[in-house]
Amino acid sequence: MNTSAHEAIRKDWDTYFMDIAYMVSTRSRCPRRHVGAVLVQGKKLLGTAYNGAPMGVHDCLEAGCMIAEEIEVKLIDGAEQVIRKQRCIRTIHAEQNLLLFTDRANREGSTVYVTDQPCWTCANMLANSGVAEVVYHRGYPKDSDKVYELMRQKGIRFRQVDPYAAPEQAQMEVTS
Ligand SMILES: [Zn+2]
Ligand SMILES: [Zn+2]
Repeated sequence: MNTSAHEAIRKDWDTYFMDIAYMVSTRSRCPRRHVGAVLVQGKKLLGTAYNGAPMGVHDCLEAGCMIAEEIEVKLIDGAEQVIRKQRCIRTIHAEQNLLLFTDRANREGSTVYVTDQPCWTCANMLANSGVAEVVYHRGYPKDSDKVYELMRQKGIRFRQVDPYAAPEQAQMEVTS
């Protein structure tokens, strides 16, 4: 194989680390959503995490998802509308687990690759974690504007990998 052909099939760093985040997400046992996150400092992988129940307690496959209904008020065509959504609250989110299992010193100036756009709570925690960049793949519309504004205020680079296709064995139907 000549050099140019090799370069053409070699994964770029975004693809490389997002692929790892997706493979990590396959460990999740919440059937509603599999989320994976990895911590990268320079080009080094310093942590991996997925959404799941705390260690040693029943997870979603054993005890079922713990469903809570959340209400969101949205402006649609100038009119306020109440949107009700069901979410599983049994799991610790992947980003939160990543912060629980990595050291602050390793996070300073680092990049987090996460399969899904962080929710408001995770974004708020990431904003205070020392992370300098957050890269996600699948969009998550809830609170997206607030999350983008928070990242802008904090000077954290926040971007979606596009184009990108997740590894086939890690793809799933997402229930939001
Ligand atoms: Zn669940
Ligand atoms: Zn979250």
